[in-house]
Amino acid sequence: MESVRRYNRLILGRLRTKAVDQRVAIVGGGISGLSAGHRLAESGLKPVVFESESFVGGRMSSERVNGFTIDKGAYTLPESYRNLRRLVDQLGIGSLVQTPGTSSIFAEGEEHPFKVGSPADFLRFKPLSLRSKKDVVKLFLYAQSLRSALNLGRPTQKTYELEDEPASDYLLKHYDPQIVERVAYPLFCELFLGTPEKNSKLALLATLKTLTSFKIFAFEEGMGTLPETLSSHMEIRVETPVLRIDTKGERGPYEIHTGGRRPSFDIFDSVVLAVPFPLIPSMVPQLPGDLRDYCRRVPYSPSIVVALATERRLSQISMISNLLRTDFKTLGTVICDSHKSSGRVPQGRGLLTAILCEGASRALFRASDEQISAQVIQELDLFFPKFSENLLFVKIYRWEQGALQLPAGHLLDRDSVRQYFENGIGNLYFAGESFPVSSLEASFNSGIQAANRIISRIGR
Ligand SMILES: Cc1cc2nc3c(=O)[nH]c(=O)nc-3n(C[C@H](O)[C@H](O)[C@H](O)COP(=O)(O)OP(=O)(O)OC[C@H]3O[C@@H](n4cnc5c(N)ncnc54)[C@H](O)[C@@H]3O)c2cc1C
Repeated sequence: MESVRRYNRLILGRLRTKAVDQRVAIVGGGISGLSAGHRLAESGLKPVVFESESFVGGRMSSERVNGFTIDKGAYTLPESYRNLRRLVDQLGIGSLVQTPGTSSIFAEGEEHPFKVGSPADFLRFKPLSLRSKKDVVKLFLYAQSLRSALNLGRPTQKTYELEDEPASDYLLKHYDPQIVERVAYPLFCELFLGTPEKNSKLALLATLKTLTSFKIFAFEEGMGTLPETLSSHMEIRVETPVLRIDTKGERGPYEIHTGGRRPSFDIFDSVVLAVPFPLIPSMVPQLPGDLRDYCRRVPYSPSIVVALATERRLSQISMISNLLRTDFKTLGTVICDSHKSSGRVPQGRGLLTAILCEGASRALFRASDEQISAQVIQELDLFFPKFSENLLFVKIYRWEQGALQLPAGHLLDRDSVRQYFENGIGNLYFAGESFPVSSLEASFNSGIQAANRIISRIGR
């Protein structure tokens, strides 16, 4: 791939020639682990990345099947992801293209465009009654007025006060009930892979505050382009799950025990843990008790992604369609992939990516592929008449830790362990999407920060 060759030339030019004496391991080859690896490699270190799957990128990965490019998890990169976009620009990685970013809500058999840049956009949103329209404008203006209290990365006393109840309870108490189903549910479903019941009022207000029109980008060759390119100059051990990390001293060294086809162990001076938090306690038995409990409690929604290739092009729909749970029990968000770039889908054919709603992802997580396909296709036939007659193939991806949820009290809970995340424990560092919601940018930043701590400690 040309982008890999170009990237390697650039990165090799930057490497320092200093002897590489520090052994650094990264557990997890998702975007957080790879950004840590990238930063460490830039400073002249040679990290080793352990990845349990046969591919890199984790939830930011793609697959090419019979000429179709399928995003297995993350599907867009908004304009606001400045750090990720800067790296992509600087290193000339792949081609990031602007998508139309059109979004709609499918209600009562009709598609309603959902574009929010100002309160007036809510007034034009047809599926709401007049009372709901007025209420949602009030809510939107309230969110704007809260300003820095909604900065989840730097919570204040006011921020904690706003996370006192689930979003649904708050809405039902103060606003027209229609807002829960027709505004809050689709937002949580698309952006949190969750529901207004399992996320706080704070999460709702913070989301509404950022709901202004923005541009959305995607990689022409699939979202996996970035991880694949970053991984091309690092030592990656795929199909090598880390089972346990042992240490005898407070600051290491660390023995990393791996499973897979050839179980073994290696010694490292520093370790970056770049996996979802619930996976950490069993891997690192010597964690302090409060951190261990916190990691176990970090709430994730599972997610099932179903890609469906069709023989004929589908009639024109928005790039992102949100389906209401009052009408659809299985589907949550449906992405029309040909909008992302024309090269992703062979001429004249179609590709949809259906992300199941939280309830269906949870209920069907251990179901067979056949059972999941049958439920998805049955509902897509309601959405697109005769959809199933057009089907070429179906691919299913499951993410047990799909997206972080932000229930009431979660930010406050996190404060008791904040210092571990910021400073690490000994020479064990944390990356991954710990704060406060799942996003590629948050994961990317966390990897860079973990790497910077290692670099500053060893004085490079
Ligand atoms: C369906 C879906 C859609 C999404 N859409 C978007 C979007 O459009 N935009 C956006 O910004 N975000 C989106 N997200 C969220 C985003 O994908 C994640 O926040 C981000 O990719 C997380 O990256 P990460 O590196 O922190 O974790 P992961 O991607 O989960 O990486 C962790 C890696 O660790 C590996 N691993 C796990 N256990 C072990 C072990 N024991 N040993 C070795 N390796 C191990 C895993 O295989 C994985 O590769 C979406 C998520 C999902 C599920």
